[in-house]
Amino acid sequence: MLKLISEELVPVSGIDIKSLAEIYDEEDIYLSIYLPVSGAENERLNKLFINSRVKAIKKALSSGLRVEFERTFSMLEEFIHKTPISGEKGLILFACSSESFLHVYRLAVEPEQSMVLDTSPFLLPLAKLRADYDDYGMLLVDSQEGRFTCIRSDLAEEKKHLSIDLMNKHKKGGWSQARFNHLRKGAIKSFFSELANNVQNICDGSEVKGFVVAGPGNAKQEFVEMLSKNLQGKVLGIIDLPMNISRNEMLEAGDKVLHETERSESIKKAEEFKTAILKGKLAVYGVKDVLSALESGRVNVLLILKDSSLPGWICERCQNLQANVQAPKECDRCGGPTSVVDVLEELYELAQRTGAEVEFVEKEDFLASDDLVGALLRY
Ligand SMILES: [Zn+2]
Repeated sequence: MLKLISEELVPVSGIDIKSLAEIYDEEDIYLSIYLPVSGAENERLNKLFINSRVKAIKKALSSGLRVEFERTFSMLEEFIHKTPISGEKGLILFACSSESFLHVYRLAVEPEQSMVLDTSPFLLPLAKLRADYDDYGMLLVDSQEGRFTCIRSDLAEEKKHLSIDLMNKHKKGGWSQARFNHLRKGAIKSFFSELANNVQNICDGSEVKGFVVAGPGNAKQEFVEMLSKNLQGKVLGIIDLPMNISRNEMLEAGDKVLHETERSESIKKAEEFKTAILKGKLAVYGVKDVLSALESGRVNVLLILKDSSLPGWICERCQNLQANVQAPKECDRCGGPTSVVDVLEELYELAQRTGAEVEFVEKEDFLASDDLVGALLRY
């Protein structure tokens, strides 16, 4: 889609990163901008940042590309300075004037500032956001109420609200306390099983990674114990929260559980990778070997060291990719034009195009060497 301007907040999982990764040109004509936009301080910092980046980019361009860049930048300018809508914390912009290409995404989460002119949309910051913000559910439950909210990059949508009124239903007719307790237990049990069915349906019908079970007291634990094995496997964590918690506090508590889950998954992948390296099979590391594995479509999981970047160049004709060296005027393999790139971005795009999974790993979980990338191989 050439023009896509979101008027509302979008979850990062709603951005079609795969088709963005397919976009490609021989010249540096795609401008990508990521900005945190909430608050006056960000507004001030963004202005300074944009001005200095525009200056630097213009300096590095030939006169023809400079004109193209100015046209592209003017497509985006109005969006950069627009007042954020309610709840908006981040802005992602991709544009290319000569292709009449313009994508504007408003987010409820904050990206890091970045502005890049490249041969394709710059996706690494978006990929990191996606790794940090999987869609998940939050189930608030006690013995007479259950509320399931889907949370997609801090956009919360309530999917189900169930409740029973235990007192009115059963305390009539002068029953003994024992009989009342028995009936109450039965009512809670059937309430839980109805709630479980609803949760199952929501999980089946959406892309949630799993759900957090929250609430006061012991009811949440009892609820989890009666879930099917399948649903129990989707429980990301069980935490204490009051039923009347505010939306923001719920998001904060849920995100914390989500990030812990994601961290432990990334540790697991890093362990799997290190074990494969030790056994000498189905794993490679270092830019050169990872690149050739990606090019032959053998990569199952690409591991990238979190928050790193790697300057280098790429040949726009033959895709010759070299790290840590200054871009020569012509490609040493085919004589084609070269451009400066973040090598990790190129590897990420290759992973997207070849269907490889991407995992961002922390330094302490990764290799002891200086390598920034590794890959688990399919064969
Ligand atoms: Zn070349």
